[in-house]
Amino acid sequence: MVLQCDESLLLLFVDEVQYIQAEKNNKGTVEAASLFLRFLLELQEEGWFRGFMDALNHAGYSGLYEAIENWDFQKIEKLEEYRLLLRRLQPEFKTRIIPNDILPDISECLLDQECEEIIQICSNKGPMAGAEKMVECLLRSDKENWPKSLKLALEKEESKFSELWIIEKGAKDVALQDLEDEEMKTSEVQIFYKEEPECQNLSENSCPPSEVSHTHSPMKPRGYQLELALPAKNGKNTIICAPTGCGKTFVSLLICEHHLQKFPQGQKGKVVFFAVQIPVYEQQKSVFSKYFERRGYKVSGISGATAENVSVEQIIEDNDIIILTPQILVNSLKSGTVPSLSVFTLMIFDECHNTSKHHPYNMIMFNYLDQKLGGSSDSLPQVVGLTASVGVGDAKSTGEALEYICKLCASLDISVVATVKDNLEELEEVVYKPQKFFRKVESRTTDRFKCIISQLMKETESLAKSIFDKLGTITLGNFSQIQNRNFGTQKYEQWIVAVQKKCMVLKMPDKDEESRICKALFLYTSHLRKFNDALIISEHARMKDALDYLKDFFRNVRTAGFDETEQDLTRRFEEKLQELESISMDPSNENPKLKDLCFVLQEEYHLNPETRTILFVKTRALVDALKKWIEENPKLSFLKPGILTGRGRTKQNIGKMMNDSILRLQTWDEAVFKEKVRQIQIHEKFIRDSQSKVKPILDKENKKLLCRKCKTFACYTADIRVVEECHYTVVGDAFKKCFVSKLHPKPKNVGSFEKKAKIFCARQDCCHDWGIHVKYKTFEIPFIKIESFVVEDIATGVQTLYAKWRDFHFEKLPFDAAEMPK
Ligand SMILES: [Zn+2]
Repeated sequence: MVLQCDESLLLLFVDEVQYIQAEKNNKGTVEAASLFLRFLLELQEEGWFRGFMDALNHAGYSGLYEAIENWDFQKIEKLEEYRLLLRRLQPEFKTRIIPNDILPDISECLLDQECEEIIQICSNKGPMAGAEKMVECLLRSDKENWPKSLKLALEKEESKFSELWIIEKGAKDVALQDLEDEEMKTSEVQIFYKEEPECQNLSENSCPPSEVSHTHSPMKPRGYQLELALPAKNGKNTIICAPTGCGKTFVSLLICEHHLQKFPQGQKGKVVFFAVQIPVYEQQKSVFSKYFERRGYKVSGISGATAENVSVEQIIEDNDIIILTPQILVNSLKSGTVPSLSVFTLMIFDECHNTSKHHPYNMIMFNYLDQKLGGSSDSLPQVVGLTASVGVGDAKSTGEALEYICKLCASLDISVVATVKDNLEELEEVVYKPQKFFRKVESRTTDRFKCIISQLMKETESLAKSIFDKLGTITLGNFSQIQNRNFGTQKYEQWIVAVQKKCMVLKMPDKDEESRICKALFLYTSHLRKFNDALIISEHARMKDALDYLKDFFRNVRTAGFDETEQDLTRRFEEKLQELESISMDPSNENPKLKDLCFVLQEEYHLNPETRTILFVKTRALVDALKKWIEENPKLSFLKPGILTGRGRTKQNIGKMMNDSILRLQTWDEAVFKEKVRQIQIHEKFIRDSQSKVKPILDKENKKLLCRKCKTFACYTADIRVVEECHYTVVGDAFKKCFVSKLHPKPKNVGSFEKKAKIFCARQDCCHDWGIHVKYKTFEIPFIKIESFVVEDIATGVQTLYAKWRDFHFEKLPFDAAEMPK
């Protein structure tokens, strides 16, 4: 049953609400929904069905709404097979998935209320209980696309669960991967290292320090830098795509200088350089100032920090080169202080791959393209973009990557993508040439930790086998082709995946039996997987880290479902816990590999304290373990570790798709490319324009806001004021009597205000959650949420529900401090 009895639906029967709520608390959502339907069928009033349908839609049951409206339940019924699959995979889902990681990607498939509940449960009871709730909600989702959304969300994460969640038909066993035998007693540590670019002032230029230490010139451009600058010098709108560390800043100086000098007597160029981040802005400003001021050009900059005190218009007027954070120009174009981009003759976008969606870069380019496509006769500036990587978006193939890059080019009105071709050897000499070192390290000689965990794994395996003994024909052995699997290897992990995949398609005459066996098998294999992970952690990090990983897992198992099988496995683990604790505390069991790693790091940082290090490890769990080890190791107190993990697609893959696409694009005839870019621009502009056209008309009529739960009058829309364009407060003393406040459990600063309390309907038998009370500047004011209220038209009495303020189009007056009582 998809339906949950949420508040919007319950509005249909004010009197019966309490019965339904009670039923929900006592017997659960399904019972409550049944009761709800019973009431619904007894309704006599005219229009009840429309009312029900509207309420359904408002509450977010769009799939169910659509199905009833069209009397077509196919889409909803089709979801049943995915529900079955998810139910079967539930034990694995809850051990693998961190709900908060995938929630943003699947929130469209859940009700807002459900998302909040999942977050709540995660923070109160841990991720496993949260994941259980998430499964429960997904099983109830009426959105046709939830299986697909879940798939995409899982692929973004590195979770192994995505291998099990196969929604395309015909996807059978995945070919066995060739796995090197990992049972090795020694392992190798590879060290790559590179020299930092010496020239700090021109951060990316790797010229010898002697040439720049006192003056910033003369500097001789390298061949590849001249090559990169050429199309832009010829006046073409260009993206310059070249690796970090090759001196793109210097390339932009060359372009800029050439640009300013090309104007004949009596005419002047004006360059704007955009930097997204403040440190980059500061650096570029200083580089440009030093380079150009001695050549007689005026350079200035405006960032968010200085914008309030200066006239943007004047600074642009007075200078030849202006360094900006892009939002400044977006604001100035919006307010009209800068009337048009035609004041500039060259725009340079640093990190230009950001030009998409609603990034300020794109807002600037929307303005540019509107002027260009709108047929204005004013000349537009030349555009140059700099980036180390144009990116490929969500592309899964070179074709899609090519489309993505064309779209980026269209956004920036680009006709040439410049990369180094003729001077590749020179480029490679300059950027990233690490020296390689190999170090051989011994493992621990004896490993009692491994013995105990292996014993637990043997026990768990035989528990799993015993399930099959009763069945006869099928055995765990013939479940997977993988032979000679050893504990604590990636091959073992592969075996688990293979067994779980077989479980998914297991068919038996007795359906209850089938479901019971599958669930048990998933529980055993997911425990085996955790043990396997722990062995890998212990092998490469400390035993303590491996044990913490297991303790954390079993703690989560306890707070979630905790059925008989789980209790049994937990008991077996806890019997060994004390012994494991004492082994992991024993200094003689320290990992010799870590000793070596520590030595390498100490030596390197002793030689050069400015070193920055990237450390690659095998598994996600090891990332956390090594971070903790570094943080807790007094010998490495000079390190500040941070975490970076991969997401599904590998970097190499993306890099290849991107490079192939750029190469292909560079072979196109320039006119053909220009036409393609123009088509994209026209299409995108059409979409932009048609979206802004549907701007609703304001309803200026004053309306009442009633408490959504008890329908008591709360305030008039005329008393509502908008704070910083997104928060809604109510002015006047009358409203203060309508609510009560309770101190916020977690008071905190959010942007420009401080959350102090939660506010509730003042009627004692209602106490509906209305929003929060905050301290904003010197005022203590309420912020209300529209989803807590019913909007009533004063003249007609028609009531409307809104989930978001942005859907409610009344006259929104801005908050004015002068209106407030002192
Ligand atoms: Zn109320």
